[in-house]
Amino acid sequence: MPLDFSFTCVLASGLHARPASRLAEAAQPFQSACVLSNERSGAVANVKSVLAVLAADVSDGDRCRIRVDGPDEIAAAAALRLFVERDLPRADDPPVTARTETTAGGMRLPRVLARSSARYSVGLAVSSGIGVGEAVLVRDMAWPADIAQERAGDPVIEQGRVTRAIALVEASIRALQAHGVSGVEAAILGAHAAIVADVSLAETIAARIAAGRSAGQAVIDAGELFAARLRGAANPALRERAADIQDICRQVLDALYGRSASRLATRLTTPSVIVAETLSPQQLLAFDRQWVSGLVLENAGTTSHTVILARSFGIPAIVGVPRVTRTLAAAEPVIVDGHRGLVVTHLAPETRRFYDHERRRRRSRQAALARVSAAPALTVDGRRIEVGANVSSAEELGPARGSGADGIGLFRTELLFSERSDMPSEDTQCRIYVEAVGAMAGRPVIVRTMDLGGDKPVTSVTLPPEPNPFLGYRGVRTYPDNQDLVRAQLRAIARASAYGRIQLLLPMVSSIEEVLWVKALVADVQDELGSAGFAFDPAMPLGIMMEVPAVSFMLDRLAAEVDFFSIGTNDLCQYFFAADRGNAKVAGLTSVTHPGFLRFLKQIVDQIRRLGKWVGMCGEMAGDVRLLPLLVGLGLDEVSANVSQIPALKDRISRLSAADCEAFLARALACDRSDEVEALVDGARSIERPRPLVEPELVRLDGECASKEEAIRALVDAFYVGGRTEEPHRIEEAVWMREAQYSTGLGHGIAIPHCKTDAVTSDSIGVLKLRAPIEWGSLDGEPVRMVLLLATRESNIDGRHLKVFSQLARKLMDQGFREQLFGVDDAMGVIHHLSGELEMAV
Ligand code: PEP
Ligand code: MG
Repeated sequence: MPLDFSFTCVLASGLHARPASRLAEAAQPFQSACVLSNERSGAVANVKSVLAVLAADVSDGDRCRIRVDGPDEIAAAAALRLFVERDLPRADDPPVTARTETTAGGMRLPRVLARSSARYSVGLAVSSGIGVGEAVLVRDMAWPADIAQERAGDPVIEQGRVTRAIALVEASIRALQAHGVSGVEAAILGAHAAIVADVSLAETIAARIAAGRSAGQAVIDAGELFAARLRGAANPALRERAADIQDICRQVLDALYGRSASRLATRLTTPSVIVAETLSPQQLLAFDRQWVSGLVLENAGTTSHTVILARSFGIPAIVGVPRVTRTLAAAEPVIVDGHRGLVVTHLAPETRRFYDHERRRRRSRQAALARVSAAPALTVDGRRIEVGANVSSAEELGPARGSGADGIGLFRTELLFSERSDMPSEDTQCRIYVEAVGAMAGRPVIVRTMDLGGDKPVTSVTLPPEPNPFLGYRGVRTYPDNQDLVRAQLRAIARASAYGRIQLLLPMVSSIEEVLWVKALVADVQDELGSAGFAFDPAMPLGIMMEVPAVSFMLDRLAAEVDFFSIGTNDLCQYFFAADRGNAKVAGLTSVTHPGFLRFLKQIVDQIRRLGKWVGMCGEMAGDVRLLPLLVGLGLDEVSANVSQIPALKDRISRLSAADCEAFLARALACDRSDEVEALVDGARSIERPRPLVEPELVRLDGECASKEEAIRALVDAFYVGGRTEEPHRIEEAVWMREAQYSTGLGHGIAIPHCKTDAVTSDSIGVLKLRAPIEWGSLDGEPVRMVLLLATRESNIDGRHLKVFSQLARKLMDQGFREQLFGVDDAMGVIHHLSGELEMAV
């Protein structure tokens, strides 16, 4: 007679792979059928099959029953019962801490997000913006179409093929296990070994073959079936196993067909978020860019070329998100918050509304910045700093011009070669460079010759495999072996120089010989062009990238050979610290804010300036608006950055004084560690030119708000669009905390919500005149027609503006003052009225 018993699962992560495989092991020796049923989900599973137990989706606290039926049922039931009671509770991994903190990268999560039912994982934001789309897991391979079309042979033969393939995969896993692996690797191999030997998998494959499918088709069917079941599990630890099953089935297919049976699915048809452990620049380029709305990587350095590409294409990107390829399901709707470093899933309507609003607000800010960025960037004390654009394709030229760039500071031409399988001809290249000078209309265009190698292999050039490509055959070092290519590129660049201000830049220079070699080739190319009747600029300036520390010791000699220098901090920093820029594990070591690196930069810039040469910076450091006080303090002639950063860079330069920045840099150079410099940088707002309390952007005279919430948000938005905060949600929260204590409705149709927070970068007054009055809970019960938001910085110790704020509150009680304020209908009028009555400068 069958025997059964019940138990409650007490494993924090549920019956995931490791306990499930131990349970299966406990059942294996018995002939009896052992069936587990999950009372919550109703799922029934063969206990001897790990996959079936996983698919039963047993979570912590689930009540389950095991039924044993067969010749040795008494012994089997006793053994299983003992296992469940004594061993199972101890068969768990350490609990995975759910990421429910309300901070991300030191930033407090906006309340709406923290309270919504959305789930999120935290990483490092490396390319800003908000991306919405369906998750495309790069682990999700497309099964080869030819397998789907093949005709099944005799079922016995097909079954034999599968059995042999499975045995091969199992043997290879066992061989790996025998190599003394430990930790996570051992756990993964253990799970894979259990899956490949799983009875349910074998039974499903056999059933498919019996139904007329080929060996390969049966494996794909079974893989899809179990992966789909696990993806739907409530238990996140089980959802992660779907990827393991696909991995295993892929290995079985490879064993069956003797080749790499899997390939990347790169065809996209809807807005998509690409999710991968790592992704090469080529892999990113292989996707149809118009549909790529976000990028999430488990591993990548902040200056890896994939990340740089994402930035230049304006794709929001987050790196360092642990296990994201396992926790996300294919086609799951995802939001990539490239400002806070969040990957948001389980999107509730309020989450979507929150991000829609965020996107609109950010667009308004970009538009506000773009309006002022056409002018040159001058510091308060009159130093001009050029702001160039980094581009890597013709597509980015239009946006570069629109952003107010003072030129192209870096045209990375290698991407022109990576995106295609054949080499672009001299004429094709020339057309692109001419387009660049045309787009820049008289402003300089710095074209860097191709920087092949490292993580930037080019499809049409075969580079030998190297153990250490970043210290190997890359940049100018590859030129002598690829002279035809280099000559064609130099001819194209020289020909384009007839149409505008082209400057030639060489990558990865480490010695004078390399410069002399290229100079000789340029002279030769120019002679050749001259003889053939082509026009070119004979004085085309030549510069080198400062990427290899060695050249910093030869600057005096190099300065005699070249016209300008451009500092590539991405490589310079990795070579300075001997830490791979693409490796997230050592990302903490390659800090551009390390005082040692800053000292090195200062020596380089000082020396180049003493030599009377122009020096710019085009590494990612140059695009970090936070670091501008350091960059201005260094005395650079130019910073060149991703197009989207240009307006913000120009805006901030115009608020800084070069003299103050020099003093600020001196303080940074005196620090011992990066985090000390970072803390200085975070507090550097105080060295910016003080802003007036109220400016036209902070005055809104046609406010259409239906509630107090909307009115406060509209004013906070104005602060954000006017560049007075990076964290509008913190201001909102501070305002609401004050509102919770007492209503700020003064009466007479006026409200003055206020707060003290360092989320505002300078003390500010926002003014909102409403079209229709709204309820505010005012003292006199009257609705509100005008709202003045007063925000002061918490760390302002002088309290200067507090006096103005209390004056304002008093004045607002005066009927004449109020009437006049209600009467003005333009922003400047409001500002004049306020400043005329209060002790404040405009
Ligand atoms: C650099 O190294 O800083 C640089 C700009 O070059 P790339 O990132 O293309 O290597
Ligand atoms: Mg470089």
